[in-house]
Amino acid sequence: MGKNLFCLRCDSLMKYISHEKLQLGKTGWILGDLPNLLAGAIEVAIYVCRSCGKIEFFQPEMSDESSDIAMRKCPNCGNKHEFDYPKCPFCKYDYYRK
Ligand SMILES: [Zn+2]
Ligand SMILES: [Zn+2]
Repeated sequence: MGKNLFCLRCDSLMKYISHEKLQLGKTGWILGDLPNLLAGAIEVAIYVCRSCGKIEFFQPEMSDESSDIAMRKCPNCGNKHEFDYPKCPFCKYDYYRK
């Protein structure tokens, strides 16, 4: 993981540190006392500038894995399609046929 990002302050290349889950809500240490409407966790990628010490958080890109969740693989033809099709749109395999 990681990509080349440049510090907004000093234009130095920022170094990727890690991915962390941040807890939002009343215990959020970044957002302070924002209402619990924001409760939940977000995943962020943390980068630090080694020149001026600035830390930046970025939302990581969606991985292929997470975009696959709503997809179903047809057992007949092996193609992937959206999960709510009652039949495979490629080969017309019927999931509800007994
Ligand atoms: Zn910097
Ligand atoms: Zn199929």
